[in-house]
Amino acid sequence: MKGKMKAIVKNEAGAGAVLKEVKIPEVGPHDVLVEAEAVSICGTDLHIYNWDNWSANRIKPPLIIGHEIAGKIVEVGGEVEGWKVGDYVSVECHKICGQCYQCRTGQAHLCRNYSILGVDFDGVFADYVRVPATNLWRNKESLPSEVASLQDPIGNAVLTTLSHDISTKTVIVMGCGAIGMFCVGIAAAVGAEKIYAVDVNDYRLGIAEKMGAAVVINALRTDVVDAIMEDTGGEGVDILLEMSGNAVALKNGLKLVKNGGSVSLLSVYPEEVCIDLSNDVVFKGLTIKGITGRRMWDTWYKTAALLNSGSLDVSPIITHKLPMERFEEGFQAMNAGECGKVILYP
Ligand SMILES: [Zn+2]
Ligand SMILES: [Zn+2]
Repeated sequence: MKGKMKAIVKNEAGAGAVLKEVKIPEVGPHDVLVEAEAVSICGTDLHIYNWDNWSANRIKPPLIIGHEIAGKIVEVGGEVEGWKVGDYVSVECHKICGQCYQCRTGQAHLCRNYSILGVDFDGVFADYVRVPATNLWRNKESLPSEVASLQDPIGNAVLTTLSHDISTKTVIVMGCGAIGMFCVGIAAAVGAEKIYAVDVNDYRLGIAEKMGAAVVINALRTDVVDAIMEDTGGEGVDILLEMSGNAVALKNGLKLVKNGGSVSLLSVYPEEVCIDLSNDVVFKGLTIKGITGRRMWDTWYKTAALLNSGSLDVSPIITHKLPMERFEEGFQAMNAGECGKVILYP
């Protein structure tokens, strides 16, 4: 397809982004062109928009940002099989090598040579997006595009939450950004006994409550360890899902997990974290799992099943729906912490 399109571009090193006209990307033999119906803003996009240290070291402007999308295929590369114009799709944002040890042993989400859509090559905040066909996920027609665009981050939450035998168990979700909110909903959907949600933002805790948290705790006002120990009769909880990125929250969380309990860590910590490994992990016999990406494609099947069956309703988390022209408002809401997920419509 020839012509121009609108896209949100990180034009130069520094804060901000611009909406501008660029060329519609040319499709290679193994790619498809997707017309975006809905895209959503991720924390990663906010890092790039704000131009923090990580972005300054990783991003090479000019770059179209964004990686969470739902849309329809409008063009198919010559060598692509199994996809056609009109197919309704979402996209796994990790482009993998297919050759490394991890890719060849069923752990492609841990590929050693991966690159990321909207980070290492042009992303989805645009009218049209070029995507390798191997990264496509087929959506059910009945799934609304704003929900379908969220499967990438919901997938992070699904992998985090379902890494443990969570049904009938007590759970702490530490940090209620969007992925924490999704984790609360997923834990509730699969029958967790009781979910504790912890954050420092009442707006986010309000959404966590709507998603199924029985107890919400603002760590600025309440001693988290005392409160949860008291509520559990001194027993603690079975499972900790840590996504606050805050060292104190992690330390408190580890103290609250029962002996023999388990932990998922999805956070990125700004600095090295010092924890009492002997007392808080070893002697308690904890199992700790680091989480990155989504299992391809096991996590996507589980995510779609939760959404298509209706057992996971993410509508309380979708707090902003904006035309792409108003993207600045979306980034401002995210910087203020006064939002769940922000959807943009190209
Ligand atoms: Zn994302
Ligand atoms: Zn690989």
